[in-house]
Amino acid sequence: MKSGELYVVGLGPGHPDLLAPRARSVLEAADVVVGYRGYLAQLEGVVPLRGAVASELTQEVERARLAVDRAWGGERVAVVSSGDAGVYGMAGLVLEVLAARDWDPEAGPGFEVVPGITAITAAAALAGAPLMHDFAVVSLSDRLTPWPVIRRRLQAVAEADFVIGLYNPRSPRRTAPLEEARRILLAVRRPDTPVALVRNAYRPGQAVSIRTLDSFMPEEVDMFTTVIVGNAATRVYRGRLVTPRGYRLAEAGAVDP
Ligand code: SAH
Repeated sequence: MKSGELYVVGLGPGHPDLLAPRARSVLEAADVVVGYRGYLAQLEGVVPLRGAVASELTQEVERARLAVDRAWGGERVAVVSSGDAGVYGMAGLVLEVLAARDWDPEAGPGFEVVPGITAITAAAALAGAPLMHDFAVVSLSDRLTPWPVIRRRLQAVAEADFVIGLYNPRSPRRTAPLEEARRILLAVRRPDTPVALVRNAYRPGQAVSIRTLDSFMPEEVDMFTTVIVGNAATRVYRGRLVTPRGYRLAEAGAVDP
C-alpha cells in the first residue's frame, strides 16, 4: 500500500501574495484539502484544488480525525489553518490525533507542518514596527482555556513589560475578556500606551486604528482583529507604532546630536 502524507498548512493572513510558495505547491499536489469552509473559499481562484472537504469552524477534532484517517489510507492530505497552522491552528491537534494512534514516522504517513505568516507579524507590519523588542501573544478565547489561566498570563506579561499581541480578542458573546485585559494592563501601564487595532490584515476590509490603552473603544474590536499593546517605550510617529530597540541614533550619526 502506498504511504499517505499529512501536511498542516498555514495560509497566511489572506492575500495570495502572502501564501508561501511551499504552501501553494503542497495544496496543489494534495488529493484532498481539509479545512474550515471560509479558508477553503479564500483559496478559490488562487490555488487549484483537486479535492476539498469543508467543515464548520468549531469542528476541529472531526477535521483532524478525518485528515488522519485519509492519510492513513494512503492519500496526500492537507489540513489548512489561517496564518500559521502552528499558532492556535490545526498543527497541534493533528499531531495529538497521530500520537493517540501510536503513529510511527518510520511507518507513515508522512507528517509536515508548512509555516505561514501569522496574524501578529502581519498586523505589526501594517502598524509600523511595534515588535522590535520582546513580545508575547495571548489569546483571549476561553473556549478551550479557563479564564483564570488567561488572566494569570496577562498579568505576568503586563508586569514584565512585554509588547503584547491579543488574538481572539472579542466576539459578540464574549465581550468581558477584553475589558478585563484592559483593566489588568492599565494597572501597570500608562493610560496613553499606544495600541494598534488591526482588522482584516491583508484581506478585504483591512483597517488599522492607532489608539491608546485607556481610550480605544471595545466596539472597534472583533474576531477579525489583532490588538497590539505597546510596552513602556513604544511611541507613535505619524500613525506608526515604533518600539525602540536601543540603537543610539545620534552616536551613529543618523541624526544631528
Ligand atoms: N493561526 C492563526 C491564528 C488563529 S486565532 C494565525 O497564525 O494567524 C484567530 C485570531 O487571529 C483572530 O481572532 C484574530 O485575532 C487573529 N487574526 C487572524 N487573521 C487575522 C487577520 N488577517 N487580521 C487580523 N487579525 C487576524
